Amino acid sequence: MPEFDLIHEFFFWEKIPASVQCAGGDDAAVLRIPQGQELIVSVDTLNAGVHFPMDTPAHAIGHKALAVNLSDLAAMGAQPAWFTLALSMPSVDRNWLAAFSQGMRELAEQHNIFLIGGDTTQGPLSITIQVMGFSSPQQALLRSGASPGDLLCVTGSLGDAAAGLAVLQGCLTMPAAAAEFCVQRLNYPQPRNTLREVLLGRASACMDISDGLLADLQHLLAASQLGARVFHQQVPLSSALQELPMEQALNFALRGGDDYELLFTLPEKYFIEVNEIAKICQIPLTIIGQAYADIVGLSIDWEFADKRLGYEHFSTN
Ligand code: ADP
Ligand code: MG
Repeated sequence: MPEFDLIHEFFFWEKIPASVQCAGGDDAAVLRIPQGQELIVSVDTLNAGVHFPMDTPAHAIGHKALAVNLSDLAAMGAQPAWFTLALSMPSVDRNWLAAFSQGMRELAEQHNIFLIGGDTTQGPLSITIQVMGFSSPQQALLRSGASPGDLLCVTGSLGDAAAGLAVLQGCLTMPAAAAEFCVQRLNYPQPRNTLREVLLGRASACMDISDGLLADLQHLLAASQLGARVFHQQVPLSSALQELPMEQALNFALRGGDDYELLFTLPEKYFIEVNEIAKICQIPLTIIGQAYADIVGLSIDWEFADKRLGYEHFSTN
């Protein structure tokens, strides 16, 4: 691909922060990490047909590719700083590139993160973004810090994206407005970076939910060497999902991927404070259960017909 002009047009941003000494056009970017801060780095690839349906609008692909990476920074409690973009695409389509870069840039501006370089190649559509952010020493939110008695909290509602994908794949029928809401949740995940400050120093462990609540919660519990109880009636369902039969809605919420909500543990004494800030940020917060030292793994008070995931059923009465 030629195409320095094309890269220049779509991927060089005029407004570059002082932390970037050199980017866009040189062989590598030269960056300054603020004194006393740690660098937090993560990378995620989205492949067309695997991580998003082939016919996803370009604007949504641009948004989502950055959103899933910002979500990893949110999970770590890191302040977003820079990102690189490795883009492989089958051909040069200016309209596609305009919408793609626009979707990415709108989200980047909201979160104050800057594109500082990348690579552009010809091949099947694939987007790899590496994000970089800052954290004060010892402050990053890990999966391993939960203590017995901590509350399990999640942001937003769960399962909408998985239901949206099922709708697009023709395996689920929903009323039009509910279907549209779920597809929007699939295409435009909202990374929860605005909770960073209130979670720092309060949440004991944190991660983002990308593979489904049960699968991801088990990773957090394993890292913290704890067990947990989850109460199915507390799992936050959007009004779109509440229209589905309970078993189906819960299946999406507990096992569906692509939510990019935060899952964190919180000592009980911090809940009111954290919830107040979440309200101001317009991010719903829900307590779905609690961590325990005397339980192994995950217990939930719901018995699924299909028992493939490693959890225990418990009864509340
Ligand atoms: P090289 O030959 O060193 O690989 P490239 O021609 O790939 O250089 O890239 C030239 C410049 O354009 C570099 O500064 C690179 O970071 C930037 N760049 C290339 N592709 C992208 C992209 N998709 N997004 C942002 N910057 C890009
Ligand atoms: Mg290159």
